[in-house]
Amino acid sequence: MSRTPLIAGNWKMYKTGPEAVETALTLSRLCSKIQDVEVMIAPTFLSLPLVAASIEGTRIKIGAQNLYFEKQGAFTGEVSAAMIKAAGAEYVIIGHSERRLYFEETDTSVCRKIKSAIEEGLKPILCIGESETQRDEEKTFSVLDKQVSDGLKGFGPDELAQLVLAYEPVWAIGTGKTASVDQVGQVHQYLRSLLENLFSSNLAHTTRILYGGSVKPENAKDLMSIKDVDGALVGGASLDANNFIKIIKYK
Ligand code: PEP
Repeated sequence: MSRTPLIAGNWKMYKTGPEAVETALTLSRLCSKIQDVEVMIAPTFLSLPLVAASIEGTRIKIGAQNLYFEKQGAFTGEVSAAMIKAAGAEYVIIGHSERRLYFEETDTSVCRKIKSAIEEGLKPILCIGESETQRDEEKTFSVLDKQVSDGLKGFGPDELAQLVLAYEPVWAIGTGKTASVDQVGQVHQYLRSLLENLFSSNLAHTTRILYGGSVKPENAKDLMSIKDVDGALVGGASLDANNFIKIIKYK
């Protein structure tokens, strides 16, 4: 079974509702003839329903950037998986390094969020990646090992059928530094064998593993051509539709 590449744009805390809708509409026009690549954008929670309504029926999928794992209740400021689904999202990014760094996200909370996403029928994009210090100390693989095994603790392969992994070395996010083809290739191969050891060879074979970290039009083709890379999670370069489309058309 082949894996359809996924090019996902994480819009972080950028764009008001009208700005997000305008970018999404431009992107949907530019994507009208795109085939063989799935495209997703993740606007802020506030923009999400507006963007979803404005591009309904187009090829572009919608994702959220986070969720809270409880179903509902007195959790001021939080948004549940069901609310995200009802607003029009198909995907949800979980465990992004910015959430781990600034909002005390841990592998335990990540695991609860993945569970909540799966229960609600949202496709989770689990972000993992080592810091620069961890790479320098040759801890990359042990860090990834822990993030994957603790973040996905307690699940069986069937429950993880819609999982997407995103390898995002922290030192490459928003810095302009990109991991080398060799570094990305090694990690993605490692992650696929980790999925096989932890779950099943079928899951290892079907799970899409994205690369993220300063992906730009200039490096997209090289990165996407690496074996075991099944798409990209793009931050800064996804904010402008005319720029993002060049990554989507990396071939
Ligand atoms: C990201 O936010 O997931 C990301 C990879 O950002 P950037 O492309 O800006 O490095």
